Amino acid sequence: MFEDYENYGDKLTVADKTEYDAEENVLRPKTMADYVGQEKVKENLAVYITAACARGEALDHVLLYGPPGLGKTTLAHIIASEMGSSIKITSGPAIERAGDLAAILTNLGEGDVLFIDEIHRLSRTVAEMLYSAMEDYALDIIIGKGPSARNMRFNLSKFTLIGATTRVGALSAPLRDRFGIINRLEMYTPEELKRIVTRSASALEVPIDEAAAAEIARRSRGTPRIANRLLKRVRDFSLVKGNAAITREDARFALRKLEIDELGLDETDRNLLNAMIDKFGGGPVGLDTLAATTGEDVVTIEDMYEPYLLQLGFIARTPRGRVLLKAGYEHMGVEPSVKARKQMSFFESEE
Ligand code: ADP
Repeated sequence: MFEDYENYGDKLTVADKTEYDAEENVLRPKTMADYVGQEKVKENLAVYITAACARGEALDHVLLYGPPGLGKTTLAHIIASEMGSSIKITSGPAIERAGDLAAILTNLGEGDVLFIDEIHRLSRTVAEMLYSAMEDYALDIIIGKGPSARNMRFNLSKFTLIGATTRVGALSAPLRDRFGIINRLEMYTPEELKRIVTRSASALEVPIDEAAAAEIARRSRGTPRIANRLLKRVRDFSLVKGNAAITREDARFALRKLEIDELGLDETDRNLLNAMIDKFGGGPVGLDTLAATTGEDVVTIEDMYEPYLLQLGFIARTPRGRVLLKAGYEHMGVEPSVKARKQMSFFESEE
């Protein structure tokens, strides 16, 4: 009866958006008060928003960065709503040509918010066009070619750009420097994720035990998107069993079926860790080599898998490559070799 779910494991724990996230908008908190966690970021933003409103000005440009699924898009919506502004949404890969960006910018009204997801994927020409738009609220366009080419300047409404990225290092320095407010979103604690699961269950109108919410939270890799996704799958199992409320047993049963372990690791994580142990003696191993060996994509490993493994202290990122640490060996139930142990203690003492 549950065969279909066997294949969902890796998709469930990857924080990127998938077709299973259709209900995401229902679960998105609409106000700062409903947005769980990220207290420092919220506190700072509240000050900037209040100050900008008091001055009657647009909020300074905001850059939000951190792994996928941590709430960047959600926060952008909330910022716009607290500013009383309307929001236009696009993404780096969607803006192919400078003309596309010009069309978007010239359509913005006074105080509007423009949200660009995956802003690191903007082409260089498009990113360069953003410089003057962000700094001077103006667009410089060159008309014509050769000696008769002329520079035309168009004035824009005072808008707020909110950029989101999983890789802040891939942004050019001039673009990064034009954001007045730069915030990094952190992974959530199990306690915060439990609040998110409970809140989402209530939005989906499914009763859930506290212990079940805690179980899902603990296995959500610090990521609200994964917490919500696991909740929905656990809900299905519970429903099929005919339970009135999701219990801890339902959660444990469903997560076992989905091959998600006690810490939220899935088959891909285990493959990565196993490859590091079996093929590379615990590392150091370069990301490209690890990707080639496991058949995963470098970006997928770097954006989706590595942040959580680093957070757990299972691996370390070193100049010579990735190294498996003691906690990683312990979780996989493998004794490190003498050589691996020596190397590990070197990197662990360095941290
Ligand atoms: P990102 O843009 O960083 O990839 P999203 O903003 O799309 O992430 O968040 C994914 C989902 O996780 C949202 O639909 C929302 O339901 C949930 N979520 C994210 N952050 C929070 C939060 N702080 N509190 C409650 N739910 C959240």
